[in-house]
Amino acid sequence: MQLSRTEIHLDGRWARPDGTEKIPVENPFTEEIIAEIPACTATDVDRAVTAARAAFDGWADTDPLDRAAALDRLYAALASRASTLAETISLELGTPQKFATRVQVGLPLTVLKSYVDLARQPDAAETIGNSLVLREPVGVVGAITPWNYPLHQVIAKLAPALAAGCTVVLKPSELTPLVAYQLFDAIDEARLPPGVVNLVTGTGPVVGEALAGHPDVDMVSFTGSTAVGRRISHLAADRIARVALELGGKSANIILDDADLPTAVRAGIANCFINSGQTCTAWTRMLVHRSRYAEALELAAQFAAGYQLGGPFEPATRLGPLVSATQRDRVRAHIERGLADGGRLVTGGLDAPVPERGHFVAPTIVADVDPDSALAQEEIFGPVLSVIAFDDLDQAVAIANNSRYGLAGAVFAGDDERALAVARRIRTGSVEINGGSFNPLAPFGGYKQSGIGRELGGHGLAEFTQLKAIQHRTVQQEAGQREAVQR
Ligand code: NAD
Repeated sequence: MQLSRTEIHLDGRWARPDGTEKIPVENPFTEEIIAEIPACTATDVDRAVTAARAAFDGWADTDPLDRAAALDRLYAALASRASTLAETISLELGTPQKFATRVQVGLPLTVLKSYVDLARQPDAAETIGNSLVLREPVGVVGAITPWNYPLHQVIAKLAPALAAGCTVVLKPSELTPLVAYQLFDAIDEARLPPGVVNLVTGTGPVVGEALAGHPDVDMVSFTGSTAVGRRISHLAADRIARVALELGGKSANIILDDADLPTAVRAGIANCFINSGQTCTAWTRMLVHRSRYAEALELAAQFAAGYQLGGPFEPATRLGPLVSATQRDRVRAHIERGLADGGRLVTGGLDAPVPERGHFVAPTIVADVDPDSALAQEEIFGPVLSVIAFDDLDQAVAIANNSRYGLAGAVFAGDDERALAVARRIRTGSVEINGGSFNPLAPFGGYKQSGIGRELGGHGLAEFTQLKAIQHRTVQQEAGQREAVQR
């Protein structure tokens, strides 16, 4: 498989970037450099935005059914490459093949298909009194994405933006850019009109800032860390551009005294450790009623022991390496500080055995974590679970809401009614109760510092539109005018 790329995708074709600098892409399991990609400049961003701007009017005026047909062709082109895409994601991210196939590629395919369907639904123009209310595309969208779900996060922006009639300039993460290149091979095959989608690659401070700050970008749709989201907001604010921000999380899994404990703990561990803990919605805080606390810790350690560490292509692997040495060192520092702050190591930790090669951190569970400590407050983005006991429901809710984040969470209880009552009190954009599964059509996004706006489904599509009200004359107005003329 040819992984290195020398070009970027502008105005419907592969083009030479302005500069000659390259960015190496590492395989986090072998620690070898597997490819190089261009480090674009602000000039490249400008070329891409110019192409997207030039394509906008034509694409916005295209019949939604034709836009749906283009997205459907893209779906077919991507689906035919599914195994290559999954292999590439495992190579650049280190995530196990099975997970790469089922979720990292399966989910974006589902999401893309959902937007083919949504784009096919007739545009329901709304009437309010004498106003016709229309939804029109926002314009040129700058999409900036992270490395942890490198295809899904791109599709979650691209598909609704294109369905709505926007044009896009994409800047994928420089850590996992290779699958984005394969997406653009599929875009070529799907014959999307030139300029409708454009690809620039490079670092955040150079390419990301140039895109977020570009005067001709009408909306910046960003997924990544809260710190960078804040910076993007500042850049967009100068020209009052719209922002959609999908940021970090520190989600709580609340396990009540009457919950089915093995189910709740198993689901909690799986959710926390999936993708080596590099998931924004990960339930990284497990809150357990004190009467079941010791039992829960025992089960958690038992389930964690089943997480075999290894290379992404080894069938037994359930936990791959972290994406980079920097990320591994950051996670290790969090564990060290968490233990120094009084947390009790249940399993894993800094001395637990890990494969010799690769950026591994052993699955780690820390009990008795102080809800105010850094371990319980900071987004760690590694396989680290903090466990905290609570005595009553009010305390559980208070601990869960004691976070500057508000992305996701879970409640396990003896019955759904009880779980639902708690879920309503949690200040997050989504909550799963008793193992309710992820719904790719439901709005996804955060409260508080977890973000602004929603992705996925119809709500995600609406993010890329703006409302126009056209007032027309009413029958009464016309009658009134006739009367005036007759007088
Ligand atoms: P990051 O914020 O470092 O980078 C994200 C993207 O922004 C990358 O493409 C990067 O190059 C770019 N970038 C960096 N600095 C920039 C700048 N100054 N201006 C413009 N762009 C810049 O995040 P990451 O480390 O790639 O991803 C991990 C983070 O993403 C975590 O905090 C995680 O919670 C978050 N995340 C959130 C969601 C969600 O939907 N809420 C989903 C996945 C990941």
